[in-house]
Order: sequence, then C-alpha cells, then structure tokens
Amino acid sequence: MTEDALSVFRTEVADWLDRHCPASQRQPIVREEQIWGGRRRVFPSDDARKWFEACRDKGYTAPDWPVAYGGAGLDAEQEKILKQEMARLGCRPPLYCQGLWMLGPALLVYGSEDQKREHLGAICRGEIRWAQGYSEPSAGSDLANLKTKAEDCGDHFLVNGTKIWTTKADEADWIFCLVRTRDAAPKQAGISFLLIDMASEGVSTSPIELISGDSEFCQTFFDNVRVPKRNLVGAINEGWAVAKELLNHERKMMAAFEGMLEKPAMALLELAHYAVGVSEDGRLADPELRSDIVSHLMRETAIAQMGERIYRQGKAGQMDARLPLLMKYLGTSQAQVKDELILAALGGEGLSMDDESVASEGVRKMVKQWAFNKSLTIAGGTSEVQLNIIAKRALGMASGERRS
Ligand SMILES: Cc1cc2nc3c(=O)[nH]c(=O)nc-3n(C[C@H](O)[C@H](O)[C@H](O)COP(=O)(O)OP(=O)(O)OC[C@H]3O[C@@H](n4cnc5c(N)ncnc54)[C@H](O)[C@@H]3O)c2cc1C
Repeated sequence: MTEDALSVFRTEVADWLDRHCPASQRQPIVREEQIWGGRRRVFPSDDARKWFEACRDKGYTAPDWPVAYGGAGLDAEQEKILKQEMARLGCRPPLYCQGLWMLGPALLVYGSEDQKREHLGAICRGEIRWAQGYSEPSAGSDLANLKTKAEDCGDHFLVNGTKIWTTKADEADWIFCLVRTRDAAPKQAGISFLLIDMASEGVSTSPIELISGDSEFCQTFFDNVRVPKRNLVGAINEGWAVAKELLNHERKMMAAFEGMLEKPAMALLELAHYAVGVSEDGRLADPELRSDIVSHLMRETAIAQMGERIYRQGKAGQMDARLPLLMKYLGTSQAQVKDELILAALGGEGLSMDDESVASEGVRKMVKQWAFNKSLTIAGGTSEVQLNIIAKRALGMASGERRS
C-alpha cells in the first residue's frame, strides 16, 4: 500500500473507532471485564457488548485473518495502524481467547478447509472458547514425552489420559490436544493434533490453585472420550509440526502478555514518586531504586525498539529469524523485573496481597499481579528452555533444547 493509501486508512480507522468505541471501553481494562467469549460468555455491561459486537462485525477481533474466516483481512501495515489507533484512544481489546492467539493461526496453516470454516469463524465471533491441552504430569519442557493416548477406532479416536496446567479448561468449550497415536522413535513421530469438544462424554476437569490464590488452571481428564476423525488437524502422527507452529504463536503472545493484563492504578515511576517521595532537586528520593528504575526503563525502550526492528524487517521481507526467538524470554523477564521494582517501591505496604489492614485494594492487586507474573517465565515454555533455544538456533551452540 502507498503512504497515501495508508494515511487514508488511518483516518478511516480513527473515525470508525471514535464512532463505535463507547467511552467506558476506552478505560484501562480490569481483569473481571475481559471478554473471553464462549458458549457461556457474559458481558460485564451493555457498552462492553456493543464494543465487542462492533469489532466482531468489522472483523476486528482477528484483524489479520482472511475475511472469509471472520477476520478483517488487514495486511501487516494496516494491522499496525489499527493497533496504534486503538492504543491512542485507549480502546480495550475486544476479545481474549487462546483460539485467537494460538489455535487460529495454526489452523490457518495446517487446518483443512472444513476445519477452518467450522472453527475460525466461531473463534472470531467469540462463540467458542478454547483451552490448550499440551502439558502432562510427565511432559512439560519435554513435551514429546506425552502419554495421552488416542486409539484409532475406525471413524473415531478413543482418547484416554490427562493434561495438566490447562488454563481455564473448566470454562472452555473445546480443547486442542496433543495425543500419542503410536509409540515411535523419536517420540515426536508418534504425536497427533486433535480438537476435542469439552462437552464430550468422559471429559472432566479439576481446579488447581495458583500462588496468587486464583485458580487459573486445572487438570483435565479424558476417560474413553470418542473424538470424530474429522477433528484431526494435519496428518496422523505428524501433529508435532502443528504443535511447533502453534508454539511460535504462543511465544509471541506470551512476549506481549503483560500488556494485555490489568494495568496497575499508577505507572511505575508515578508509584515510586508517591511511595518513596522526591528529594529537593525533584528526583526520586531513593537513589538505588532510582537507578534500578532507569535501567528498567532503558531496557524496556530497547525491547520495544527491537520489536519495531522485527516488524520492519518482516515488512521488508528481510527478517532475521533469530530475533523473534528472543522476545518471549525478554518480554516475560522484563515484566517480572517491573513487578520487583513495584514491590521495592511499596516497601512494607507490599507485604500482603490479601490483608486489608496492611494495604489498600490497589496495592493488594499489584502484589497479586507480582505473584501471578511468576508464571510468565514458565507458561509457554520456561525461560531456561527459551535460553536453550536461543543458544542453539540464534547462537549456533549445542544445547539440550526441548519444548520446541
Ligand atoms: C500460568 C500457567 C499456565 C499454563 N497453561 C497451560 C495450558 O493452558 N496448557 C498447557 O498445556 N500447559 C500450560 N502450562 C504449562 C507450561 O507449558 C509448563 O509448565 C512448562 O512448559 C514447563 O513444564 P513443567 O511445568 O512440566 O516443568 P518442567 O519441564 O518439569 O521443568 C522444571 C524445571 O526444569 C527446567 N528444565 C527442564 N528441562 C530443561 C532443560 N532441557 N534445560 C534447562 N532447564 C530445564 C525448567 O526450566 C524448570 O525450571 C501453563 C503453565 C503456567 C505456569
């Protein structure tokens, strides 16, 4: 697209957003008001419903997906403009969903035409909520060690086994799963990728509590679950390729995940000024904290610039494939450094996430976020494993890479 055409597009998008995004949906998102879609979806308000429906009808829940599958068919430049204009107005993301972030992009590559038509539109329209069934008690980083078995029974598979750490599977309608369809060496060669309706007989879940006190994930059990053959994505025993494609998208999502979470009531610097105070020359009163915050902000800028570099290289068709590998590790570790700085600034007030006599609600939320964000460097592949991948693929060193 020419610069002129992009400029016209920007004006149209800004105008559309201004007309369709209610003022209440331009406020920072709070966790309870995120819209995850699904058969049991609820909208926290009429405005939230209107905003979601406007985006859904325009294809803006999945802006870069083809129009035929419910997206808006935007190219990379247009999508970036949409994101910029939404950020400028403070528009909330219309939909949160593992189907959008992970399954959809993998289906676009590996799904059959029937699967794309059945599932992609339902994701964009927020009708079906998906969970991810990869990890098992003995298969996390070493994902290919998975044991959940899918037996070929003619027109269907019979699935038996268990998946663990399945985020919100108890609220999901469907789950995408890696299953073992044959014993093979290497282990990756006997894995298939299946789509399973959570309403199928024999599927059950049991919640697991996180350190933050929330129960974000559960263990999911499959007991003689019949899964129609048409729910196999890609070829039998070749699910590892689908799994890896999906993991690429999961890493991308995880790198940016902190940005999708509820924002603290105050930005880091503002909070530090408020909590620690300023000296006579107007600088943060605690020099050590000041220095740590400056380092953090410089690194944050460097990471953002690296993201921009990746985007520009992609646009020019000159992507250095090593760079995106770094983003999950950098993005998630950076989020945790920020949490530590918030806690350092809060001092004694930051000692409790549930005691009202110690801290206000806003502060307790920040402490809870600190606890929750511990999971960012585990979910989607641990930092240690990411470093192995970087060592091997970006630096050409030998490593014990797994979950890739
Ligand atoms: C909040 C959260 C949500 C999640 N949601 C989902 C979900 O929806 N679906 C799903 O399938 N899974 C989910 N997971 C699971 C996640 O993918 C796994 O926890 C992760 O892959 C690590 O596996 P594990 O927990 O079995 O740890 P392990 O693999 O047992 O690792 C334990 C420790 O050993 C280290 N380690 C392991 N292998 C190596 C190696 N080769 N080199 C160096 N160090 C190594 C790890 O870094 C880690 O510190 C979620 C996890 C979290 C925390």
